[in-house]
This record gives sequence, structure tokens and C-alpha cells, in this order.
Amino acid sequence: MSFMVKMTGGFLIGIFLALVLGEHSSFLSPLGTLFLNLLKMVVIPLVLFSLMVAVNHSNPKELGRIGLKIFPFYIVSTGIAVVVGIILAKMTNPGAGFSLPTAVTMDAPARPSFIDTLLNMVPSNIFNAFAQGDILAVVFVAVISGLAILFMRHSADEKQQEMGDFLFRLLEACNEVVSKILNGILLYAPIGVLGITANTFGTQGLDVVIALGKFIGTSYLGVIILVGVVFPIMLKLFGVKVIHFYKNIKEAAFTSFVTSSSLSTLPITIKCAEKAGIGERVAKLTLPIGATVNMNGTALRFGVAVIFAAEIMGMSLSIPELATIVIIGTMAAIGTAGVPGAGLIGMSIVFTQAGLPIEIVALTAGINILVDMIFTFGNVVGDLVGAKIVDQTEKRSNSEDLTDANFGHQNE
Ligand code: ASP
Repeated sequence: MSFMVKMTGGFLIGIFLALVLGEHSSFLSPLGTLFLNLLKMVVIPLVLFSLMVAVNHSNPKELGRIGLKIFPFYIVSTGIAVVVGIILAKMTNPGAGFSLPTAVTMDAPARPSFIDTLLNMVPSNIFNAFAQGDILAVVFVAVISGLAILFMRHSADEKQQEMGDFLFRLLEACNEVVSKILNGILLYAPIGVLGITANTFGTQGLDVVIALGKFIGTSYLGVIILVGVVFPIMLKLFGVKVIHFYKNIKEAAFTSFVTSSSLSTLPITIKCAEKAGIGERVAKLTLPIGATVNMNGTALRFGVAVIFAAEIMGMSLSIPELATIVIIGTMAAIGTAGVPGAGLIGMSIVFTQAGLPIEIVALTAGINILVDMIFTFGNVVGDLVGAKIVDQTEKRSNSEDLTDANFGHQNE
């Protein structure tokens, strides 16, 4: 039986148990927590070892080029996602019929400054960064350590070369160990999915789902448009066979939907990237960054939520105001962590900046689990789409390099 069939089986049985047991299905939640813990357990060593190995198959120039290409994709696709959310919500009117909740109060979270986010990539204490699961800092440490080993391996000094080669082989071995552990974890995945699904659907209050039906529906429809229309257009522009690509990444897409966590899904995202033919260096450099920085689904949420709030407040937002919201939403999505529930914090930041009452954020908290699933799905598919597009351009420039080299040869 294929992995996907087993995962779907776990999901369907989970829903069935949620329907039969209702709230009592929460006793199955430890099965899901175990799966999430196992995935999180391998994230840091996986990113560290596989990125260090990938850096050793690369060179600093190529790494810089990949980094420079992926960021424009993240910014543009995130901005587009906010716009899709705004336009769609303008058509579906998710806030119609609601009034401002007065009983709930919320404190506005502080917005992390852009400079701080960049500075935090360079950890003052490596062990702290690892202990806190700070992926961007781990990526930074992996890239510079990988480069140091690469330089040692290519040093003129024989002793340095020897040590470099030894470290590289050690890294390859460690990478293999993590990969074996991950394969073992995937055997357990269907049971984990069953646990998460039974708990999520069994404990979700139905009345709040009905009340916020339009908000939920708009969110799902928005991500479907993003993944079904916007991403395919982008992929086609770079010569990717969309259906084939989507077939190869289905396991990661499904896992993101069930776990609501880009970071927990990362090990499976990296595995799928290999299946989808994304080059090792592009996948291993961009996907950990994408899981932390690229949040297309979350950005779409901000667009929908702003219109939802404006409707509740009876405000009509002008085009310049909406344009500002696209910028604020893009920045906030980039600053949102790839963990369950993080989008709610991002939403409070957007509301505070846009002068909307953050009490409305609390109004959507009751159904957050349900929408978080689809937004995370959009986030992870977006990460893979970005990696695939960069990989296409890398392959093109590599084949152009080769053609140039051939011409060079002929001329000689
Ligand atoms: N749960 C999302 C993710 O992990 C982030 C969010 O809450 O929007 O990608």
C-alpha cells in the first residue's frame, strides 16, 4: 500500500472516530502529539547535516545566486496571496451580519523589527539557537560550517584536506542516520494522522463553525485559487509540468494540512522535493528558509481577515489603504513562524498596524485550527513551488554554462 493511501486511511478513520466519539476522541490526541514530536525531533539535525552536505556539493557563488533568486519569489507570491484574499473576500463578504465583540479583549503583540529578524539569523549562542529550534539560525550555522569544510577540502595544505574529507564523510554518515530515522517515523505517520484528525474534528465546536462558515469557506476557496490557479501560472511560466509536479509533492501537501505546521512538515517537504526533481542544493537551502519565511496561505488569511474586520466595522477601505495593507500583510507573513496558531499573532500585528480592532482576531480564534490547516497547506505548497522555480532557472543557467563550454571547446 502506498504511503499516501495509508495516510488517507488514517485521516478518514480519524474523521470517522471524531464523528462517533465527539469530544471523547481527545483521548487519541497523544498519538498525534507523538507524530509531531518525532517530526520536530529530526528537523534540526536534518537541516543541519543535509544542508552542510549540500553546501559541500556547491560553491559560494551558486549559494548566493540561489538565495538571491528565492527571496523575490517569496515576496511577490506573498503579496499576490494577500491580494487574492482581499479580492475574494470583497466578493464573498465574510463579515456581513457580525458585530464587534465587546466581551473579549486582547493585547496587541509587538511587531518584531525587520533588522532584528535579520540580526537574529546570526546567533550569539549556537546552543541556544539549536535548543529553541531557531531554523534561520541553524541554516546560517550550517551554511558557514559547510563552507568552512568545503574550503578545507580544497586547501593546498594536505593536512587540512585530510581533515576536511574526514568531516565531510562524517557528515554524509550523519545525514544517512537522520534519513533512516525519518523513514522509520514515516511508518508511524498514518497512526499519527489518525490521532491528530480525530482530536481536531472531535473537539471542534460546531456552532462556531456554522457562524463563521463564510470566513472558513472564503479561506478554503482562496487557497484553492492560489494552489489551483496562481501557482500553476507561475510554474507554467518556468516550463514546469504542473500536474506531474503536484503529484510528486502530494505527501508534503497532505502532511501540512493535517499537522498545521510548515516546520513539522519540513522533513517530508524535503523528501518530496527530491521526488519532484528539485536539485539537492536548491531544495536544502531554500526549503528550511521557506518553512520559516514563506507563508503564502497565511498572507491570504490576512487579506481575507482585513476585509472581514472592515465589514464588521462598517468601514470601506480605499485603494491606497488596501495597498498599504498588502505591504503590511506581506511583511507580517514573512515574520510569521511556521508553527500552528502563529497566523493569529500575525493577524493581530496586521490589525494593529492597519488600525483595525484586534478583538476581531479573537472572534476567529475558535475556528483557527480548521483554517490553519488550509493556510499551512498553501504555505508548504508555496515553498515547494518556489524551490521548483528556482531550480528550473538554475538548470537553465547550468545548461547554458554547458553550452557555452561546448562552444568554447569547438572554437578551440
Ligand atoms: N500554521 C502555519 C504554518 O505552520 C502558520 C500560520 O499559523 O499561519 O505554516
